Amino acid sequence: MRQPIIAGNWKMNNTIAGTKALLTDLIPLVADAKAEVVVCVPYTDIAAAGEIIKGTNIKLGAENVHWAEKGAFTGEISADMLVELGVEYVVVGHSERRQYFGETDQTVNARVKAALAKGLKPIICVGETLEEREGGLVESVLVRQTTEAFKDIDKSQLENTVIAYEPVWAIGTGKTATAQDANDTIAIIRNTMAELYCKDCAENKVRIQYGGSMNPKNASELMAMPQIDGGLIGGASLKAVDFSQVVKY
Ligand code: PEP
Repeated sequence: MRQPIIAGNWKMNNTIAGTKALLTDLIPLVADAKAEVVVCVPYTDIAAAGEIIKGTNIKLGAENVHWAEKGAFTGEISADMLVELGVEYVVVGHSERRQYFGETDQTVNARVKAALAKGLKPIICVGETLEEREGGLVESVLVRQTTEAFKDIDKSQLENTVIAYEPVWAIGTGKTATAQDANDTIAIIRNTMAELYCKDCAENKVRIQYGGSMNPKNASELMAMPQIDGGLIGGASLKAVDFSQVVKY
């Protein structure tokens, strides 16, 4: 019912030359994937990536979007700018943005609204830090982040959103949540969506990915879990063979 979606988050990696090489290798490896395949690339690689994946099953994504339509926001990128380049998905609220660039639940919500208003599909990242986990705050953090991210978002837009549950302690660390734990935690997020919207909305309209050191070795176990609808993949998305193995879990 919910088509799995596997998205690569390249972060600040790959120049245009690297983009061309990686995608050229990746295209044939994922051509028969059943999951939806997305690559979220740095702004400077978007145009080149768009050219290379044209006509393939790989979809184009960006790593952030500003909430304003335009104006005096030096260094920022608007939704219109991304749409013009053929971007379909955009990562919003990644923990690295929250941790290093002052992203808050409120700015995440503003970016989600800006993306949806222009027809972009936000991949909304939520997740607890190790400190929050050890303090027994997983549920309250996820309920808060999810509720704030979806503030004033209409039910009709839910099919255009993806949530990525990314425990901060598992990102880029090689530590993965166990499949059962990721599944159970994602169930908390889905229950939150049921309360915010409706049971059917949560069950059928919103896809929730797992992210955090997902790789060819653990992808099939994670993807076998009923609550897990895909993955947001950092490190393993930078190698064509590894990413294709995750995509075809
Ligand atoms: C991410 O950047 O969203 C991520 C999950 O990274 P990694 O797969 O490297 O942990």
